[in-house]
Amino acid sequence: MKYYIIAMLVFTSVASSSAQKAAIQKQNTVEDYAATITSNELKEMLYIYAGDDMRGRMTGSKGQKLAVNYLKDFYIAQGIESALGGDNYFQKVPAEYLRRLKEPADSENVVAFIEGSEFPEEIIVLSAHLDHVGVDDKGNVFNGADDDGSGTVAMLEMAEAFQRAVKEGNGPKRSILFLHVTGEEIGLYGSRYYTENPIFPLANTVCNLNTDMIGRIDPDKADTPNYIYLIGSDKLSQELHDVSAQVAKTYSDLEIDYTYNDENDPNRFYYRSDHYNFAKNNIPVIFYFNGVHEDYHKISDTPDKIAYDLMEKRTKLIFHTAWEVANREKRITADKL
Ligand SMILES: [Zn+2]
Repeated sequence: MKYYIIAMLVFTSVASSSAQKAAIQKQNTVEDYAATITSNELKEMLYIYAGDDMRGRMTGSKGQKLAVNYLKDFYIAQGIESALGGDNYFQKVPAEYLRRLKEPADSENVVAFIEGSEFPEEIIVLSAHLDHVGVDDKGNVFNGADDDGSGTVAMLEMAEAFQRAVKEGNGPKRSILFLHVTGEEIGLYGSRYYTENPIFPLANTVCNLNTDMIGRIDPDKADTPNYIYLIGSDKLSQELHDVSAQVAKTYSDLEIDYTYNDENDPNRFYYRSDHYNFAKNNIPVIFYFNGVHEDYHKISDTPDKIAYDLMEKRTKLIFHTAWEVANREKRITADKL
């Protein structure tokens, strides 16, 4: 009887103190943070990032240097640290490594980092390539708004959302590396360099969510544009695939289209963007992609042609997936190896 009374007293005091807290401050949820990802901010950033001043962001060029400085300035303004410590946000990729360049020049990956609160040594890598194909003989700029300006600014919006959660004491349990890779267009060089020279051990790298082209609509989907292609999610980890599918069902109304996940698909997209360098190292990946379109790798891949509302939905889906893999009790494993 005595113990019962004590238990009752403890229960009553806990209940009333949490009721007080709830009255003072509503706890923000993942959906509140996802809501900070907006089509307006994506658009504002993409008009700069894929603007003519960046000269098509060819690996090693002046335009590419402007691009990496834009990314660095963004992370500094957000108060998000470098993965290398201090104010060096650039992982140098030396000219001699970039063998496909006509005029060899040093380049760099941009690496920003949010440390996990419970499992800081476990790393979720979000990636997008920062480079594009430069200018043509006549000086026309390949803006690369979709490829991969869209994935790049999507990552910035996700970083901002995660950092807001950090500031409110709701930061991710696992660490997040925001990895903007160079040299993709000349042969997936930046991501290969990172996996050969990882800042954090690959054995502790939980998964890679790679975003390359999420702002446009595949002509095949003109009648049903509310979609995103997912590639690779079930190749190494059934668990990652299931979590990803559950997140999509819970938080998104996008159609998740696995057409290009088919091993026999002749396009072989699974092998054609930066996630593949992680998959090659047995790290589970998901590649988020809108498919190709009439402006793919043309000077007409410009920011005015992006479907910003759709891009916002796609970015939110990736953010929710990243949030889940970063915060769930158990680490995702490559259970199909
Ligand atoms: Zn691309």
